[in-house]
Amino acid sequence: MIYPFTAIVDQEEMKLGLILNVIDPSIGGVLIMGEKGTAKSTSVRALADLLPEIEVVEGCFCNCASEGPFCSACLEKIENNENLSVEKVKMRVVELPLGVTEDRVVGTLDIERAIKYGEKRFEPGILAEANRNFLYVDEINLLEDHIVDLLLDSAAMGINVVEREGVSFKHPARYILVGTMNPEEGELRPQLLDRFGLCVQVNSLKEKSLRVEVLKRKIEFDDDPEGFYKEWEEKQIELRNKIIRAKELYKKIPITDEVIEEVVKITSQLSLDGHRADIVLLKAARAYAAFMEKTSITWEDLEKVAPLCLRHRLKRLPFEEISGETEKLKELFRSK
Ligand SMILES: [Zn+2]
Repeated sequence: MIYPFTAIVDQEEMKLGLILNVIDPSIGGVLIMGEKGTAKSTSVRALADLLPEIEVVEGCFCNCASEGPFCSACLEKIENNENLSVEKVKMRVVELPLGVTEDRVVGTLDIERAIKYGEKRFEPGILAEANRNFLYVDEINLLEDHIVDLLLDSAAMGINVVEREGVSFKHPARYILVGTMNPEEGELRPQLLDRFGLCVQVNSLKEKSLRVEVLKRKIEFDDDPEGFYKEWEEKQIELRNKIIRAKELYKKIPITDEVIEEVVKITSQLSLDGHRADIVLLKAARAYAAFMEKTSITWEDLEKVAPLCLRHRLKRLPFEEISGETEKLKELFRSK
């Protein structure tokens, strides 16, 4: 039994960051910054558990969607006029351990077999498992740089291609990348920070009433997980339906010239590199508007998501100063 997502106390920013990525996965993942023991991994698992099942090609190692894009193995079946049957499965949280090898991440091709028998045999890696799921990397700042690059590249392209000696195998690799880091334990290269769609902060709760609530619910859950789940079931279904509706709605929300101008008005006043911030801000605001069941993007939507989109992109500063920059951002909205 998994702790219900809706029963997680506070941490609204982290919850929102995750939900926005579910509504529009092209936002590009979320980096969760905070101390240990702040329910980061629990939250991701709880959200995966709450989401509706997805349709996948039965037996496919990378959960190809029935409408594609397809992996090399499914494509071969289609070419041979084999029927692809479909099944429904729950979304999963695939964890990427520290110290993982490149082969384990991208998968390997049995090249000998390919040459001898002309048969492609692919040993899937973590990216295959992660397709259409969550890819969770705890303490991503401690992961080797070349592995982080691999993750961010495949996440951006949505595909993983393994090529050796003229033999190649590819599969879709579309996942929601969730990285966590404790800023006290080392930083992430600035180029990498910028490639995470959103960045959220989690804090251990200081307020007494909230801490009491965390404790009460945890004990209640541990004593009787099923009973606890029943209590929260209605809220769970409500949120699930809200996310389903938002996923249907977000692409119908128009990106008007006014909204684009408002986005640029915000980003041009801050010291940011490149245009990624503009794109993410627009997408996140649209996903948020859809989540709020609205049909257009307003200034309030931009204001709500701006800290998540921008705080890790503000000019390279030590982490303590990043929170100072968040203040600057708030000021910018106040002065509007
Ligand atoms: Zn497939």
